[in-house]
Amino acid sequence: MDIAPHVVLLPFPAQGHIKPMLILAQLLCHGGSFNITFVNTEYNHHRLLKLIDQPAFSRLFPTLQFMSIPDGLSPEHPRAGPSVVDLFFSTSSVSKPEFRNLIVSLSQEPTCIIADGIMSFAVDVADELGIPVITFRTYSATCTWIYFHLQKLIQNGEIPVLQGNEDMDTQISCIPGLENVLRRRDLPSICKLEADSPILQFYITQASKMTRASALILNTFQELETPMITHLQSIFPTVYTSGPLHSLLNSIIVDSPSKNSSSLIEMDESCIKWLDAQHPKSVLYVSFGSVIVLSHDQFLEFWYGLVNSGKPFLWAIRPDLIVDYNGPNNIPEELKWASKEMGCIVSWAPQEDVLAHQSIGGFLTHSGWNSTLESIYSGVPMICWPMIADQQVNSRCVSEMWKVGLDLKDTCDRSTVEKLVRDVMENKVEEVMASTVKNARLAHDSIHEGGSSHGNIKKLVQDIISIHS
Ligand code: UDP
Repeated sequence: MDIAPHVVLLPFPAQGHIKPMLILAQLLCHGGSFNITFVNTEYNHHRLLKLIDQPAFSRLFPTLQFMSIPDGLSPEHPRAGPSVVDLFFSTSSVSKPEFRNLIVSLSQEPTCIIADGIMSFAVDVADELGIPVITFRTYSATCTWIYFHLQKLIQNGEIPVLQGNEDMDTQISCIPGLENVLRRRDLPSICKLEADSPILQFYITQASKMTRASALILNTFQELETPMITHLQSIFPTVYTSGPLHSLLNSIIVDSPSKNSSSLIEMDESCIKWLDAQHPKSVLYVSFGSVIVLSHDQFLEFWYGLVNSGKPFLWAIRPDLIVDYNGPNNIPEELKWASKEMGCIVSWAPQEDVLAHQSIGGFLTHSGWNSTLESIYSGVPMICWPMIADQQVNSRCVSEMWKVGLDLKDTCDRSTVEKLVRDVMENKVEEVMASTVKNARLAHDSIHEGGSSHGNIKKLVQDIISIHS
């Protein structure tokens, strides 16, 4: 058969999902010369294409085409903060038949579909049309493993986790491999919901549908999560761990225009100049990712904590980050003054370049999985302030399993923020520093020739070729 394999990729419509899947698309296009159809929702399709340098992108990836389907929400819907869950239900009802129509209308039948674990309706479509399907979970192996135990957590009475309750520190004993690590407060945020909540039930259904896929792809690396990956192999015969995907791509296509091409928000590169003028490892980078929102009070506590620590900071503040923001008049003058002296604020930073910059010494993060992995790769210790989804799990792994950071979880008063910033930037907790260096080295090793993630991407390419022939 001389025509190349054709892979369709379907991400969940959010920045943290589109980014790793688009990187995977580029790797498959480059490494396997596959024909790729990348399916975004209409809303994100336009945002993404506006920011891509299209001629340069097409030169590098001539066989990658972008297509779109509706997400079922009105154009005014915020699609961020708590209302991001509306996308779960609108995509599985509205996008599902649209996806089916798109697949049958393609001029080349797909060799396989790679679908985001939260878009598991694609497994139904693929089954119906007789197309092989691989599931891509954009979370860590640890969190993916936990999502397969939601029913068990309900049966054991661990759900709902009651916030503020003194039992929040009770250990979770019913998830193999995590008996001595997880407390109730470290469970994914959906575990705070009632057992019959439609959102929780949605996750249970998604996990069960995922198991019908022939293989699982994870954006992690073997050496970081060996025990959890072994557990997942009891559900999926093949698990391709190929992360950190961003660095794998950057190592293959050095300085290419495809770098940062998966951002839905325009990056403000001016902060790099500001970083150039700072001392090595002196700056704390602060970002809460693309989805979570802060209350005005939380925002001020963080701001006071940063200023009181006396450490220079670079802060990415999205225009929609503060949910009840009512103008600069409500920001105390002392904060504005201090920040002019010691801070740089942008709305969206070139995060990979920021974390790789020599003047960055720490990262205050919401513990999104991409940010966590990017920080591990760059050897930057973290201060974690998780809010939703998998973030609680990630921050526990960072602080307890991998010891590459400290966990603020459930509190963000200014004195605690100040203390943790000082601990990371000034006191340099020895165990954290040593572990950060070690894990960065393991991450680097995994993406180079002979490394585990490098090998797994090659294996994925070969396996898709054998489905095709
Ligand atoms: N990001 C960025 N600039 C910013 C903040 C975030 O480029 O100012 C990128 C970051 O590199 C990461 C992604 O946005 O790859 C956020 O994904 P993550 O999983 O960390 O969090 P989410 O946005 O899904 O909550």
